[in-house]
Amino acid sequence: MTGGTTGGTTGGMTLGLHPDELALQARAREFSQSIVRPRAAAIDRDEQYPWDIVRALADAKFLGMTIPAQYGGQGRSFLDAVLVIEEMAKACTVTGRIIVETNMGALSTVMAYGSEQQKRLAADLVLAGDKPAICITEPEAGSDAMAMTTRADKRGDGYVVNGRKHWITGGGVSRLHLIFARVYDERGADLGIGGFLAVRDEAKGLRVAKRESTMGLRGMPEGELVFEDLEVPAAMALVPPSGFRRGFADLMNAYNSQRVGAGTVAMGIAAGALDHALDWAKSREQFGRPIAEFQGLQWMLADMQTQLTASRLMLYAAARSRGPADSAFPDPMLAAQAKIFASEAAIRIVNDALQMFGARGYSREFPLERMARDVRMFTIGGGTAQVLRTLVAGKMLGWKLPQTRDGYAEATARPLAAE
Ligand SMILES: Cc1cc2nc3c(=O)[nH]c(=O)nc-3n(C[C@H](O)[C@H](O)[C@H](O)COP(=O)(O)OP(=O)(O)OC[C@H]3O[C@@H](n4cnc5c(N)ncnc54)[C@H](O)[C@@H]3O)c2cc1C
Repeated sequence: MTGGTTGGTTGGMTLGLHPDELALQARAREFSQSIVRPRAAAIDRDEQYPWDIVRALADAKFLGMTIPAQYGGQGRSFLDAVLVIEEMAKACTVTGRIIVETNMGALSTVMAYGSEQQKRLAADLVLAGDKPAICITEPEAGSDAMAMTTRADKRGDGYVVNGRKHWITGGGVSRLHLIFARVYDERGADLGIGGFLAVRDEAKGLRVAKRESTMGLRGMPEGELVFEDLEVPAAMALVPPSGFRRGFADLMNAYNSQRVGAGTVAMGIAAGALDHALDWAKSREQFGRPIAEFQGLQWMLADMQTQLTASRLMLYAAARSRGPADSAFPDPMLAAQAKIFASEAAIRIVNDALQMFGARGYSREFPLERMARDVRMFTIGGGTAQVLRTLVAGKMLGWKLPQTRDGYAEATARPLAAE
C-alpha cells in the first residue's frame, strides 16, 4: 500500500509537524502495518475485543501517552495522540478507538478534574491496558443528555447510584467507568450533574445487561449498563472546581478532546480507504489500461484527497488549540467543526473508495465494506453532527440555544454573549 512508505494520502507533506512528531507518527505507522493490519479483518469477523493488540499497544507505550510523567505516562500532547490514532485507524477502527479512549475521553476528564487518588487510579488502570468507559447516554436521554435520570443520592460518606445507560463503548471489557448522574443531597434537593468513578468487578451494583448488536466497529462492545444501588465513596465523586451546579459543562468541556479523537478515527479510516483506492486504481485494468487513466476516477481521487487534507488540517489545528481561559482542552468551536467536517468527509471518501473497487468493494474479502460500516458511526457518537452544528451556531450567535419548545424565546430575550 502507498500509505506506508511514500506518504500516500499525505502526499509526502509533513503539514507543519516537528521532527519528534514525525518520528512518533512513523513508529505508529510501522506498528499499525506490522501488528494491527493483519488482525483487522478477524477482529471484525469474530466480534472480539482485541486483547492481544491491547497488550502490544501497552508494551509499545501507545496507551496513556497523554498521562503526565508524574503518574507514569509521557505527558504527550493531544496532537501526538491524533498522529497515533490516524495510523491505527487506517488499518483497524477498533484499535484507533482504543488509542482515543486511553489518551482522551474519560481519562483526560479525570486528569483535569480528579483528585490525586482518582488520577493515580485512572493512570494505573490505563497503563495496565484498561480502556475507560464514559457513561452519559440513556435510552430516553441521548442528544438531550441533561434529561438523564440516573441519580446519585448522597448517603453518609458517599453516593448511591441507580439508573441505566446504553451504547457505552467498552461495556463488559472496560474496568474504569466515569458515570454521569444527577446528584441529590440527603434532603432530596437536586444539586446538578456530576461524574462518579467506579471500577467494574470491584464495585457491587454495576451490571452489563446487554451487548448492542452493531453495524460496524464489531470488535468493540457497546453495552447497556445497569446501576443498582451502586455505592460510590465520596472520594470517587469527580467534582470540577465549579461544583456540581455548573460541573456538567466543565466535564463536557473535557470531552472536546474526545471529539477531536473521534474525528481523527474517521479521518484515519478515510486515509486507509484512499490508500487502498489509489493502489487499486493503478493496478486494476479495464479497456486495456489502468482504471486510474480515466479522468472520471482521477477527479474522484483528487476530491477525496482534498477533503482528507482539509480534515487533517482541521483536526491538527483543533488538537493544538486551547479552549477559553487557556483550558487544558481543545477549543470547543474548533473541536466541533473538525468533528463535523472530518466525519462527514470520511463517509464520502470511504464510499467513493468502495465504488472504485467495483464488486470487490462490496465483498467481505476486501476491507472496503468493513470500513464503510465502521465509518458510518462518527456522525452519531460523541455528539451528533446536528447537535454539534447547534453548538457552533450558538457560539457564533453568542446565545445558549436550549432545545426545549419554548427555549428559543427565552434565549433570544437573554443573549449569553459572555459565555
Ligand atoms: C458506536 C457508538 C458508541 C457510543 N459510545 C457512547 C459512549 O461510550 N458513552 C455514551 O454515553 N454514549 C455513547 N454513544 C451514544 C451517543 O452519544 C448517542 O447515540 C448520541 O448522543 C445521540 O443520541 P441518540 O442516539 O439517543 O439520538 P437522538 O438524540 O434520539 O437523536 C436522533 C436524531 O435527532 C437529531 N437531533 C436530536 N436533537 C436534535 C436537535 N436539538 N437539533 C437537531 N437535531 C437533533 C440527532 O442528530 C439524530 O439525528 C455511542 C453511540 C454509538 C453509535
